[in-house]
Amino acid sequence: MESKLILYNTLTRRKEPFEPINPEHVGMYVCGPTVYGDPHLGHARPAVTFDLLFRYLKAAGYKVRYVRNITDVGHLEHDADEGEDKIAKKARLEQLEPMEVAHYYTERYHHAMEALNVLTPSIEPCASGHIIEQIEFVKRILDAGYAYISNGSVYFDVEKYNREYHYGRLSGRNLDDIIENTRSLDGQQDKHRSVDFALWKKASPEHIMRWPSPWGDGFPGWHMECSAMSTKYLGETFDIHGGGMDLMFPHHECEIAQSTAALGHDSARYWIHNNMITINGQKMGKSLGNFITLEELFTGKHRLLERAYSPMTIRFFVLQAHYRSTLDFSNEALQAAEKGLDRLMKGIETLGKLKAAPASTVDVAELEERCRAAMDDDLNSPMVISALFDWVRTINQIAEGQQSISEEDLQRLRATVNLYTFDILGLRDEKAAGASGSDMVPQLVETLLDIRQKAKAAKDWATSDAIRNRLTEIGIRVKDRKDGVDWEIE
Ligand code: ZN
Repeated sequence: MESKLILYNTLTRRKEPFEPINPEHVGMYVCGPTVYGDPHLGHARPAVTFDLLFRYLKAAGYKVRYVRNITDVGHLEHDADEGEDKIAKKARLEQLEPMEVAHYYTERYHHAMEALNVLTPSIEPCASGHIIEQIEFVKRILDAGYAYISNGSVYFDVEKYNREYHYGRLSGRNLDDIIENTRSLDGQQDKHRSVDFALWKKASPEHIMRWPSPWGDGFPGWHMECSAMSTKYLGETFDIHGGGMDLMFPHHECEIAQSTAALGHDSARYWIHNNMITINGQKMGKSLGNFITLEELFTGKHRLLERAYSPMTIRFFVLQAHYRSTLDFSNEALQAAEKGLDRLMKGIETLGKLKAAPASTVDVAELEERCRAAMDDDLNSPMVISALFDWVRTINQIAEGQQSISEEDLQRLRATVNLYTFDILGLRDEKAAGASGSDMVPQLVETLLDIRQKAKAAKDWATSDAIRNRLTEIGIRVKDRKDGVDWEIE
């Protein structure tokens, strides 16, 4: 596919044609989750956004090495750089090994990503597996003179760096503003200035996640893993670095400073940031009580949810907004997305049944051009969806005999609709998967309903109700009739 992709580069604050260093080897690094809690809405948006980019780059013929990390050490509670390690804290509270916590939540994250049909990255390195690389990277920054050792910790010298480079370049800040907005030192810390950040932290005696280093036992600062691992897997200069807008400062700013200090230049060429998710117009936060995990969304078990929403409804909802716009979750908006997705899938079903005519009255190339132009324009997925909707209308007109389509055009239309709906937007027909994914589903439902009928006959209403309720929860509606039971997949 011929593509002229233009991406908005957060670093330069303008749209730029995407020109990779080597089309046979496009490097993309995206900051992944810190694995200490259930994956939530905040994880869905960057995952789907960068999945869309990954899928589109591949469809455009690029070979992509997509690296998405797992943070399993060094992400501290306060300002990412102070307080207790988030994973170690969870491990302490639940009396687990920190790696048990990390493993458990990594698995949960993977399950959620699979449900959202997010492709697995090429490499998924974790911070704890790259301590040696991080120590080496810290040494390079020390050798270059942009860091200092203090009481077993190593800190980045922000002021010195700012004299030669601009600290704040990505987030559009200058050092004076940053200093003004930084908490003052309480005298307990080893760093010289409040803006300095840890590259390596000395471990206190009770700190459980620790490794030996030239500076004593400790652990890497959170920002260090991304500089070290992106350099290891993608080289000193690579194409795309992505993440959520909330990571722009301090995380990505610090990453740029670290890489620039060690390598003499910034490593990533295009910085891409997705915007944030709000819930009923409010920022999402545990303290606000509107923190919704993906599992709660999929099951409907949250006081803010009127019911369950399927993973594809969530994915479609995310794609209906441009990734740089804010996205507000509400029951209303999700139900509208659900209807829209259903309309699209029904249209595709109709497309599968269309009969060709000797000649076309429709211009199939129009859809191809519109979809490609929309994706080329900084991944404008809402425009792709609106083009597909227009064509659902046309497909229905063909089905009703108001328009006609030739065999050649029909093949082409099916190929284009499939390419954009399934390969690029990454949608799945959940209902079709439920019905045809396994022939065992109807048999299993019948078996359960048999057991339920026996329970009813024995006046065991608890069991009978439990079976019906559990089936309803997974989307199977049970209808009692005088002469038996009917059921359908909703
Ligand atoms: Zn990162």
